[in-house]
Amino acid sequence: MNRRKFLQWSAFTAPLLAYKTTGNIEKPIVVSTWDSGMPVNAEAWKILKEGGKSLDAVEAGARYIEDEINCCVGLGGYPDRDGIVTLDACIMDENANCGAVAAVERIKHPVSLARKVMEKTPHVLLAGAGAQQFALENGFALEPAILSKDAENAYQQWLKKSEYKPVINIENKKENGPFAPPFFEDGSANHDTMGLLAIDAQGNLSGAVTTSGMAFKLHGRVGDSPIIGAGLYVDNAIGAATSSGVGEEVIRICGTHLVVEYMRNGYSSQMACKKACDRIIQRDREKAKQIQVGFLAINKQGEYGAYAIQKGFVFSVKNSKENKIVPAKYFFG
Ligand code: ASP
Repeated sequence: MNRRKFLQWSAFTAPLLAYKTTGNIEKPIVVSTWDSGMPVNAEAWKILKEGGKSLDAVEAGARYIEDEINCCVGLGGYPDRDGIVTLDACIMDENANCGAVAAVERIKHPVSLARKVMEKTPHVLLAGAGAQQFALENGFALEPAILSKDAENAYQQWLKKSEYKPVINIENKKENGPFAPPFFEDGSANHDTMGLLAIDAQGNLSGAVTTSGMAFKLHGRVGDSPIIGAGLYVDNAIGAATSSGVGEEVIRICGTHLVVEYMRNGYSSQMACKKACDRIIQRDREKAKQIQVGFLAINKQGEYGAYAIQKGFVFSVKNSKENKIVPAKYFFG
């Protein structure tokens, strides 16, 4: 075979060669970001194991973590630079129905508000005061705007220097129990997003994301998490993906949409995540060395995989055979 023919052949077969199983193929299944995904998966599993819908399962999982006041998602999460907790969330089902809320204040379950946007409006994304107004019109209660003890401590700690460094984001986890957020080396927390993807017994895919976003962000800053195609994407024919890390970098490459497109082209879920990380690295390698982005994906067959720029990204898996935390592979570590 001459070189030209080989190149043609390898271009054609590369996706096939890359297609290898990186996780068990067992449905129903739920996967979620971080080790805090374990109890989240357990909640989603209650619905999946009874033959329930993946959309209900991902909402239930996300609501669980939003309820955890000692966690870094939901109203117990870290505030922005002005000391205000603003929440981002989205949800997407097997028919490409999707809803999202961004920078919403004092609403306990932004994921359910996102689902209301999906089900009750012709829109996809409501933001800020308008999202809150829509919540009140739809029976959501306004919660007190009080920081959780952990969030207050972290904020007070941060205020001492008040350094605006939203891009430095590499995990060095403290052993602080199942809801411990990722920490900076100096102990301060930075990001915390819960993204979950599920396939139900009918074989339908859904996903949800909920977060308080990057800690101590500018008021009004919105990350990748509520942006369909960035923080979450579901294509029922192909697979689904979610992300955690520096949202701006994920938005720039339409990260989760890219992951799903790589899967469409035949790449395994892990390889698709790796290629999306690499897209960020290729743009600016030196900058990429300083930041964390992790992608988690599952394909229509139930094969899951993840990849991150830095060491430290982990994800949780639950199906009838597995209930575990899996460290993602990474580029730098
Ligand atoms: N992706 C989130 C954001 O940029 C941060 C995170 O992963 O926790 O808001």
